[in-house]
Amino acid sequence: MARSSRTTPTHPTPPKPRSASKPSSPRPAKSRRGRRKAPDAATVLAILAQTYPTAHCELDFTNPLELLVATILSAQCTDKRVNIVTKQLFQRCRTARDYAEIPPAELEALVASTGFFRAKARNIRNCCAALVAEHGGQVPASMDALIKLAGVGRKTANVVLGNAFDLNEGVVVDTHVGRLARRLGFTSHSNPVKVEADLAAIVPQPQWAVLSHWLIWHGRRRCSARKPDCPDCELRALCPSASPVA
Ligand code: SF4
Repeated sequence: MARSSRTTPTHPTPPKPRSASKPSSPRPAKSRRGRRKAPDAATVLAILAQTYPTAHCELDFTNPLELLVATILSAQCTDKRVNIVTKQLFQRCRTARDYAEIPPAELEALVASTGFFRAKARNIRNCCAALVAEHGGQVPASMDALIKLAGVGRKTANVVLGNAFDLNEGVVVDTHVGRLARRLGFTSHSNPVKVEADLAAIVPQPQWAVLSHWLIWHGRRRCSARKPDCPDCELRALCPSASPVA
């Protein structure tokens, strides 16, 4: 899961859940090959559910603190690399206080291979110091509290809430989710907050967390940024961005 984190929280506005009585229409995307109607979201979800029945967060974690730290580390880094790093890190630091008190140079060395390691190490230490000072060392299960923490933006908060607490507060929008949402015609925006709002408007709230898993898995396995595998894509018949048959 390629993710970015922000030191300063922005756009904390939660998306509006889809209304049961008046479902809204997705914003039609402008395809390079013309304008094709966005597919029915429910049909797309059904296909993705069938295609990826075991879709889940691919970061390794056993508790909310581990997921929070792993998600901060995953900015501009692969989940595979993060999982390698956290295997050792989670042995060294087991509590928020451990992270708050670990010497900066030691933490930087432990997370160096994830990139941007000084900023990530600083955010993790500051974030965990705030957990100790303000939350009894626990990760809060609330969007408002999470986005006040260093290195935690709305996306990271959504990852933690959806996967560690089973709370569908919002939709995780990373690079894969944004790209898939645009290619499928569910949004025309590149701003993650606007993409999230468009997805939340057409997908039932109980499916917000799994929706991001499905789109991330499809983005990684079928619809890559540079070379989408349209000929073999399970969504080909519905997708407004599908390449023409050769
Ligand atoms: S048809 Fe092509 S562009 Fe559309 S989702 Fe599938 S791989 Fe991506």
